[in-house]
Amino acid sequence: MYFWACYPLPPSHLRGTAGSATPILRFLRPIRYSVFAVPLAEKALIAQIRAKARRDPAIRIGIGDDCAVLQLPRGHEALLTTDFSLEDVHFRRSWHAPEVVGHRCLARGLSDIAAMGGEPLAAFLSLALPARLPQNWVDRFLQGFLALARQFRVPLAGGDTAQSPAGILADIVVLGSVPRGRAILRSGARPGDSIYVTGELGGGADALHRLYAGKRIKPEHYPRHFHPIPRIAIGLFLREHRLATAMIDLSDGLSTDLGHLCDESKVGAEILADSIPRASVGRPVRTVDLKDALHGGDDYELLFTAPPRNQIPRRIAGVSITPIGRITRGKKIFLIGESGKRSLLKPQGWEHFRGRSR
Ligand code: ADP
Ligand code: MG
Repeated sequence: MYFWACYPLPPSHLRGTAGSATPILRFLRPIRYSVFAVPLAEKALIAQIRAKARRDPAIRIGIGDDCAVLQLPRGHEALLTTDFSLEDVHFRRSWHAPEVVGHRCLARGLSDIAAMGGEPLAAFLSLALPARLPQNWVDRFLQGFLALARQFRVPLAGGDTAQSPAGILADIVVLGSVPRGRAILRSGARPGDSIYVTGELGGGADALHRLYAGKRIKPEHYPRHFHPIPRIAIGLFLREHRLATAMIDLSDGLSTDLGHLCDESKVGAEILADSIPRASVGRPVRTVDLKDALHGGDDYELLFTAPPRNQIPRRIAGVSITPIGRITRGKKIFLIGESGKRSLLKPQGWEHFRGRSR
C-alpha cells in the first residue's frame, strides 16, 4: 500500500493552502512507506502480529489477504464500531505501560459491542507508529491487546500498519453480532423506566486527576482506569432476557452519556445523587468524589433503562447493578441531592473540541 502523507513534506512554498496538496502529489514519485517504519518494517511487523494472533474457525480468512472473510451467525446482523487511541489524547507513554495502552485500545471497542447487547466476532487494529518507537513498546502493546482478545475470545482478523509522523495512533475496529432486530439501542428509553448502572463510577477520572497532579499511582489500585473490563456478559444477559429498553456504555462520563441516551430517546431523566455507586480506589482505599462519578469518563460501565416491572438482578456476571434514577418526560436531566433539592445536570463529561468552541 502507498500513502501520500508519508512523502517528505514538500518545500514550504508549495505548502500553505489546502488546495495545494493534491497537485503536489503529481510531482512526487511513490515511496513504499515501510522503508521508514519502526525497527521492524511493515511486512515483518505484520508477520509477527499474524503469528501471535489467535486463530478462530469462524474467521475463514484473517490476516494475510486484502480483506478478512467471515460469516455472521445465522439470523444475526453485524455490529461495527471503531475507536481511536491517540498518544497524548487517550494515553501518555509516561503514564501508561504499553500493555495498558493495548488493553485499553481493545476494551474501548468491546465496550461498544457490550452496549448493544452483542457478541464480539473479530477485531481489526490499525497502527500508525513513529519511526523512533522501540520495537519493545510495540511487542508489549500487542501483549496487552492480545491478552484481552484471548480473554474475550476475539480473534485479531486484520488491520493496517503505517508510519506516523508524530505520536502513536491505534484505531480499533470491532465486528460483533446480534440476533436480527434485537440490538439494544440508545433510543428505546420511555418515561417511567428505571435507570441502572453496572459496577462503580468515577474510578477512571480519579486516576486521571492523580496522574495530572504528577502523582505516581499503582495500576492495581486503579483497575478501572488501567484495565477496564468490557461488560459483554452483562449486555448479553440483558439482551437475552429482554430486560433493557435502552443502553449505552459510559466512556465519556455519566452526565454526558446519559445525555446521549436521553437525546436519542427524546426523554429526560432524574438521578438520585445518593444512589450513584462511587468507586473505591487507591491505598488506603478512598471513595471517589461525586463529581468524578457524575462526570468522569473512561469507566466503561454500562448504563441501561428498564420498565419498573422488569426484575433486574442486583448482580449480573458478578458485577453489581444499581438503580440510580428514572426516565421522565421533557428533555432535561435533573440531579436530586440529599435534601431533595433538584438541580439541572448538564453534560460535563469528556467531549473532544469542546475547548475550541467555548
Ligand atoms: P493492503 O495493502 O492490501 O491493505 P496490508 O499489506 O496493509 O494489505 O496488510 C496485509 C494483511 O495484514 C491484511 O490482511 C491486513 O488486514 C493485515 N494487517 C496489517 N496491519 C495489521 C495490524 N496492525 N494488525 C493486524 N493485522 C494487520
Ligand atoms: Mg493495508
